[in-house]
Amino acid sequence: MRAVGVTPKSRQVGLLSHPAPRITQPGQVKVRTIEVGICGTDREICNFDYGTPPDGSDYLVLGHEALGEVVEVGPGVTTLGMGDLVVPTVRRPCPHHTCPSCQSDRQDFCFTGDFTERGIKMTHGFMTEYFVEEEKHLNIVPKDLADVAVLVEPLTVAEKALAQIWSVQSRLPWTNGASQGGAGHGKTAVVLGAGPVGILGAMALIVNGFKTYVYSRSAKPNPKAALVESIGATYTSCETVPVKKFAEQVGNIDVVYEAVGSARIAFDVLDILGLNGIFVFTGIPGHKAAIPIDADLLMRQMVLKNQVAVGTVNADRPAFENAIRDLGTFKKRWPKAVQSIITGRFPLDAYRDLLLGKATGIKNVITL
Ligand code: BGC
Repeated sequence: MRAVGVTPKSRQVGLLSHPAPRITQPGQVKVRTIEVGICGTDREICNFDYGTPPDGSDYLVLGHEALGEVVEVGPGVTTLGMGDLVVPTVRRPCPHHTCPSCQSDRQDFCFTGDFTERGIKMTHGFMTEYFVEEEKHLNIVPKDLADVAVLVEPLTVAEKALAQIWSVQSRLPWTNGASQGGAGHGKTAVVLGAGPVGILGAMALIVNGFKTYVYSRSAKPNPKAALVESIGATYTSCETVPVKKFAEQVGNIDVVYEAVGSARIAFDVLDILGLNGIFVFTGIPGHKAAIPIDADLLMRQMVLKNQVAVGTVNADRPAFENAIRDLGTFKKRWPKAVQSIITGRFPLDAYRDLLLGKATGIKNVITL
C-alpha cells in the first residue's frame, strides 16, 4: 500500500510502500482510510523533534486524525459492520498491569509513559490506504457528518479540556446547574489561538454557554477572525490589543483554553486569569531559549485568586463520543463555519508541501 511516513535514522519524509494489514484477532476491524488531517504534531515529527517508529521498523507511518470506512470485521466484532464510518482514537495502553489508568481504558492518563500512539509513538498511523484496529478503539460516526468528521480528533482536545474544567471546578459552586443556557452560562472563556484546535474549542465553549473570546496573533480583518465572529465569539488580535487592555475589555476571566503552543502569550494571559479561574494548557511548544516570567506575581495571584492551571493531553473514548455529538450540533448551528475550518483537501502525493512547506489555511486534509 502507499503510505506517507518518516524514517528518523536517515531523516527522510516520503512516500513508502507499506504492507497491507490483515485481521488477525476476532475483535479486529479492517478500515479503508477516507481522510487524514494534518496537524502541528505531524509537522514536528517531520522535523524530527518528535515521533518514534514501532520496534523493528525503520519508519513510522504518519497520521492520527482519521476518518475511515469499515471494509471487514472479525468474527468477534459486535457493534460495527461493513460500510460504517469510523474515527479511531490515538493512544493505546501500556502493557503494565500496575498502571491503573491503562488497565481501565484511561491510557490518556497513563502512569508509566509506555503507551503507544498511532502515527506518533511506536505504532503506525493512518496516512495509508487501509488499517486494522480493535473495535474498542473505533468510534462510529453518523453518515451525515462524513464531510466534517475528520475534525473529530482535533475537537477531542477541547472535549477532554472541558471534562477537566467541569471536574476541577466542581471544587466550588461554579457551574450553572440548570441546563438552560448551558453549564457555562454566565461565565467567560478566552481561547488562545485561532487554529483548528482553537476554533473548535471556541465552538465547544459557546455551545456550553460560555461568553467566548478568541485572542490570537493576526490583526483583523482576516479569514480566521471572520470565522470566529460568525459563530458569535469576539476576536481580538494580541498584535493590536495588548494583554492588559484585553483584560479590561473582557472582565473576570473564568476559563482560559490555550491552543496556541506558545509560552510567551500563555503566561502573559495567565497573569490576567480571574478569581477562581482555570487555565488549561493544550499546546506543546518546541524547544526554544528560556523566556523570563514574573513567577512571584503569578504565584501570588494563583494563591490569592484560588486559580488552577492544568495541562491536558490525548483524549479518552468519551471525549470522542462527545466530539461526534458536538460536531453534529456545530454543523446544525453553523454549517458554513464548520465546513470552512477545512481549508484544503489534497491527494496523498501532496504530502511534501503539506508537511514540510509553510503552514497555510486552517485544517488541511489528505483524501485517499
Ligand atoms: C494528539 C494527541 C497526542 C499528542 C501527543 C496530539 O497531536 O492529538 O492524541 O496524545 O499529540 O503525542
